[in-house]
Amino acid sequence: MTRGAAHILLSRACVNDCVFCTAVDHRLNRDFARREDVLAYLRRVVDEGVPHLVLSGIGEPTLDPNFEEYLEVAHGLGFRHIQLFTNGYRCTRDRVQRWRSRGLTSVLISMHGIEEDHDAVVQRSGSFAEAVEATRLYAEARIHVSVNTCITRSNLDRLPELRALIRELPVSRHAFSFLEWSGGVLHHPEIAPDYQAVGAAASRLVSENDQVAYFDNIPYCIVNRPIREVADQHEVRLLQGAEDLQIDSTIRKEWPSACRERSCPRRPTCPGFERRYIECRGWQQIPELVTRFLDDLESRPTAMANQPRRLLVQVPTTIPYSTHSPLGMEPREDSGESLDGDAVTQMYEAVRDHCRRESAEVVTIEWMGGDSLRLGPAFFRAAFSRTQPWRTPTVSHVVRSNLLLFDETWGELLQEFGCGLRTTTDPLFDDARTVSGQASHAQWWDNVVLAYELGLDLEVALSLGKAHVGRAEQIYAFARNLQLLGSRPIATTLTPDCWVNEAASPGGEEQGIDAAEFGSLVAQLGTLWVEDGRLFPLYPLSEWLVAPPSDALGSVLQWDPAAKSQASDRCQRTGRLVDLTDGNQSQYQAFVGARAQMGVS
Ligand code: SF4
Repeated sequence: MTRGAAHILLSRACVNDCVFCTAVDHRLNRDFARREDVLAYLRRVVDEGVPHLVLSGIGEPTLDPNFEEYLEVAHGLGFRHIQLFTNGYRCTRDRVQRWRSRGLTSVLISMHGIEEDHDAVVQRSGSFAEAVEATRLYAEARIHVSVNTCITRSNLDRLPELRALIRELPVSRHAFSFLEWSGGVLHHPEIAPDYQAVGAAASRLVSENDQVAYFDNIPYCIVNRPIREVADQHEVRLLQGAEDLQIDSTIRKEWPSACRERSCPRRPTCPGFERRYIECRGWQQIPELVTRFLDDLESRPTAMANQPRRLLVQVPTTIPYSTHSPLGMEPREDSGESLDGDAVTQMYEAVRDHCRRESAEVVTIEWMGGDSLRLGPAFFRAAFSRTQPWRTPTVSHVVRSNLLLFDETWGELLQEFGCGLRTTTDPLFDDARTVSGQASHAQWWDNVVLAYELGLDLEVALSLGKAHVGRAEQIYAFARNLQLLGSRPIATTLTPDCWVNEAASPGGEEQGIDAAEFGSLVAQLGTLWVEDGRLFPLYPLSEWLVAPPSDALGSVLQWDPAAKSQASDRCQRTGRLVDLTDGNQSQYQAFVGARAQMGVS
């Protein structure tokens, strides 16, 4: 599979005049790329198998009179993804619908501050309102919308307000970009903030649980938040004038010596520091920040630096399944038993003890099946209510379900307690049946739509078995189509289908995927996802690009209500937390190989 992206700089003309524009020195020549160069380039890169096209400019690409023709040609040539970098100018419902029908799949819109801040930076009044309206029009046409915000000294303090505003818009990704030291910045270096200032503001811009916002063009050690790593930018081609250039993402970059001497694990994908900045302002306190980050990594090798220690507690509800699926279930007898209030009390006590001992600060309790919804809404209302007063650890709940019992009553309950909903499906087959013969897939889809429309925190797990090997494109298309439910991204998880319900599917063990097959499939899916601009969270890849797999996993415990606890002899109690962290991590070793295949070490 060939990967990478081809960028075309279409236009040298622009209606804005951003103070930091990298192209300011090229503006004297206000014209457009030559039509024959663009058409020849499109054919060349498509012949070479480059799947992703970006139409941008040293200016606003939609000003190019041939813009729609290029879209149409690119669509006809079969580019899988066509992205437009724009300031939102000339955006009308008719145009956007037409561009959608000509293959446009995503846009990156510039928004550099709130209202007058943005208009001042781009030096055109009314441009902020235009950009906001553009996000709505593109999203309405089912075109994925990302936003880029350049950080300047003058907008830095008000960027949290901008982030809050963008949260309310139909935006899938929001980048806060450190300025490139070229073009306008070299003429007015005073507009560029220091690395330290951006680092100090980072947690106000991108909160802990923000899945949408991230930083661009700044090292992880400065912000301790998700960044765009340079592995994403590998194999970028650029048509500039008549020149077909290969882009080296590390050009004009510097690193302090500590990164090399102490082997920072992030070095292979680190975007580095702007060389001209260092020449102008020197290293200042940067080496101290880097050293502190590396010290922290060394002292907590199994946890992400500066991240709260996380714990996942899985709670099997040990009740009858509401259906049998032939795939993805451990053989388990229906016990006929339900988890009761006493068992929940014991489980909560064990969780709090564990958190005190291990200093875990953030806990997710995942209620698993059978089908957890069979416990009924009253059970969950009581269970959720009891953790609400807890301060440390902070607790969130997730219910795992096949959704066959899901309805609006459930939706309202989960909404009230901010509880997540996870459901597993097979991304290739739409004829899933229960063992009683009941068709379940259509009902599953109806309830996925209902959960989405109710605004629930929905995560869809794709169960991948042997039958899925070699079908990455179809699987990715399923995950991508899920995103078309609306403008809010739906988190998707890749999960190995290693266990088969032998009773429901005789001979089914052959359907289980092995670690090497799974790793390779994840790598193919990850490559498609990166090429597509990471438009939705795809776990565990979303976490690995922040930390190595072993760090990102955190600890995993499972509540075994039937086991004797150590205290049970004295207290006549049963139930115990079983540590699955090692087993879980070894299961995830398959992911480590996938990460390497994707070029992420
Ligand atoms: S390589 Fe250096 S600059 Fe980059 S994240 Fe590591 S310590 Fe920071």
